[in-house]
Amino acid sequence: MSRALYPALLLIGDGMGDRPVMELGNRTPLEAAHTPTMDRLAREGECGLMDPIAPGIRAGSDTAHLALLGYDPYEVYTGRGPFEALGIGMEVRGGDIALRCNFSTVDENWRVIDRRAGRITQGTEQLAAVLNGVEIEGVQCFFKESVAHRGALVLRGEGLGARISDVDPHIEGERVAECRPLDPDDEASARTARVVNAFVRLSYERLKDHPINRERVAQGLLPANIVLPRGAGVAPHLEPFPARHGVRAAAVVETGLIRGIARFVGMDILDAPGTTGGLDSDLMSMGRTLVQALQTYDFVLCNVKAPDLCGHDGNPVQKVEVIERMDAMLRLMLETVGHDFYLALSADHSTPCSVRDHSGDPVPLLIWGPDLRGDEVQVFHERACMRGGLGRLRGRDLVPILTQLMGIQEKFGA
Ligand code: ZN
Ligand code: ZN
Repeated sequence: MSRALYPALLLIGDGMGDRPVMELGNRTPLEAAHTPTMDRLAREGECGLMDPIAPGIRAGSDTAHLALLGYDPYEVYTGRGPFEALGIGMEVRGGDIALRCNFSTVDENWRVIDRRAGRITQGTEQLAAVLNGVEIEGVQCFFKESVAHRGALVLRGEGLGARISDVDPHIEGERVAECRPLDPDDEASARTARVVNAFVRLSYERLKDHPINRERVAQGLLPANIVLPRGAGVAPHLEPFPARHGVRAAAVVETGLIRGIARFVGMDILDAPGTTGGLDSDLMSMGRTLVQALQTYDFVLCNVKAPDLCGHDGNPVQKVEVIERMDAMLRLMLETVGHDFYLALSADHSTPCSVRDHSGDPVPLLIWGPDLRGDEVQVFHERACMRGGLGRLRGRDLVPILTQLMGIQEKFGA
């Protein structure tokens, strides 16, 4: 199936972009970090700035990765539900309706006492088991617990719509809301709303006297006696990445969310031993897994989560350290693989330490590999990349740039 001259690796430092930090002498973490390998690649390759979605737009990791893989997030992303479900390893198919859920505590009149069921941490797997796989009005309902009080509901069946209101009233002391179609004439969403309401009733019936909840009440804890869905979205019908580009594609990624997206677009998921999605993740192991992947696959996506965590923590010193470990991982890869592949190094968004959240600042981008024109950029960081030959691109431009370098893109026109 492979027809690529050279494989390509898309290496994403999650939230790696930043702003100048006083503590680092008004340098960004990428500027302050000692990154001899990234700098060498910048000298040999081409650099630029990238707006993951569009200039100024604050991207989530999910929407950004969809864009970086060549999909239009505004078209395919209708709500967090499907991506939440994918993130916890549920099977989600195009056309499925998915909702984020909380295990909650209600009184006998369905007034919400605690939206998070006393921040329950244990037993939700057993609670979810009595709800997973039920069928309502011919619609299959899949339910799975996530961390703490969270979970996700996936509805699969004919004639469903996702334009429905939330059941979760979002405020304690309020009664559980009835799910309604946002437009009363929308038959498909009205059908979904009926199924959701029936599922919520069933959750109360099956959970209120569940042994786990009896035990909780005996211990003076709040019972997780109902499931409250919100954030409905329809899973898009996507052309799988391998079919669209005629490549074998794999992903080496750390978080459930990105893993779920990669699986959803048809990539194989490869596990790197010792990678945790945390600051202690074994990036050398990840590098070795990437080296192997490039021998088998044409396109490999890799996401290193740690830079984003440092940004959310507002810890620029730790972000510098994580970036230096990514540099060491790249050096290991280059020593093993040599020159015969393309590398795109970038971020899915900026997570400035000063903001402690995702910002709309563009991210630095580096493309390296055989037969490039090159440019004048000598080091890899946000401000140096402003002068690069790639100029300023959007996330969705990246895959075409790579596929034409890889020699697998069809000509447009004669
Ligand atoms: Zn991210
Ligand atoms: Zn983040």
